[in-house]
Amino acid sequence: MNDIWWRDRAVCVGKDPTLWEIPHGHGKVNRTQSRRHTARIEKAKAYCRSCPVIAECLIEAMKIDSMMLKVHGSGKQLTSETIMAGLTPRERKKLRQST
Ligand code: SF4
Repeated sequence: MNDIWWRDRAVCVGKDPTLWEIPHGHGKVNRTQSRRHTARIEKAKAYCRSCPVIAECLIEAMKIDSMMLKVHGSGKQLTSETIMAGLTPRERKKLRQST
């Protein structure tokens, strides 16, 4: 689909956008916080799985990540810390490396 209005059909429209942000310090927190972070990430991923424009979102995510890599260099952490198309930045990186 090539239309630019796909975002209008996104499940995340109108929802709290912070749900799609990777919680600050994720991976460096205690067990309770970690469980909370994981639950939040899984909730965002569940929304994405039900989203009718997940394919368009994935294409957009890969473009954004690729642009950031050009700006920041391939060895550095992406600054995009959001879940897109049901994938975390780390999962998108793995996908990119596997293609
Ligand atoms: S796949 Fe997820 S992040 Fe992408 S538009 Fe849909 S709900 Fe939003």
